[in-house]
Amino acid sequence: MRNPIQDYLESLADHGHDAGGAVADYIPELAAADPDRFALCIATVDGHLYTVGDGDLPYSIQSISKPFTYALALQDRGAAAVAQKVDVEPSGDAFNEISLDPRTNRPSNPMINAGAITAASLVDGVDNEERFERVRQWHSAFAGRQLGFDAQVYQSELSTAHRNRAIAHMLREFEVLESDPEGALDQYIRQCAMKVTTEDLAMMAATLANGGVNPISEERVAQATDVEHVLSVMTSCGMYDAAGDWITSVGVPAKSGVSGGIIGVLPGQLGLAVFSPRLDSHGHSARGVEVFERISDEMELHLMHVTRNSRT
Ligand code: GLN
Repeated sequence: MRNPIQDYLESLADHGHDAGGAVADYIPELAAADPDRFALCIATVDGHLYTVGDGDLPYSIQSISKPFTYALALQDRGAAAVAQKVDVEPSGDAFNEISLDPRTNRPSNPMINAGAITAASLVDGVDNEERFERVRQWHSAFAGRQLGFDAQVYQSELSTAHRNRAIAHMLREFEVLESDPEGALDQYIRQCAMKVTTEDLAMMAATLANGGVNPISEERVAQATDVEHVLSVMTSCGMYDAAGDWITSVGVPAKSGVSGGIIGVLPGQLGLAVFSPRLDSHGHSARGVEVFERISDEMELHLMHVTRNSRT
């Protein structure tokens, strides 16, 4: 018998073709992406995974790593210590804005680059090697399999990261970073170059939806309180200067990356991931946003929606 969710998702496979946008090229290696690739995956908290399109195509995770590394910093340092270094306020700015909150001299939130470079520096480890290995294992536990690393994307971003380098040195100047800014920058660029598939991203989102327990391996990856904290920040800040539009029209905590992935988390129910490399002016997958809007509407996923019939 055909599965109705699979049938429904397949009916969306052609949706949003004309969404427009352009593949990211400020990281030279990303410009090589095939703009017509598409994937849509849903993972439920009871361990079902539905896939349409190129669900097993690997690409670099980019900014979708930010909420996960932030969760690791919360676990390693505790919420109070992390709050000394990075705030939880929407900035209304682009993800790569070179600025700190003028009142606190801290990054506004961990979803923009300034906050994410800071969070990367708060991960425990004796050196960068150990810190990155912990970050990779942490993301792998969310995905339920060992994630790889794209050395070409890493080198490509490292050699052109003038803007992120400026941010890292600004963080050092204001003593948000207390040690070598180049080390924190390197750590952040490494984390962005981890390789995921859209199926991985759906599982990672489902692990967040499931309060920090991976639905398939049943491993408790993160503490439920840290997951609540991270999902709150994704709700208010995950989509940067489009966060208000997103929470109004789609209504789920989310995070995007410049490779073209977007994850969404419906707490207690499911994780969703869409992939399409053409980006809108905010750096979000243009087609991904359209697909999310439609699914949220038709499956009644909006967090503020009262009568929900999406339990199946
Ligand atoms: N590595 C990218 C950068 O820092 C990530 C940006 C993103 O995915 N929004 O520019």
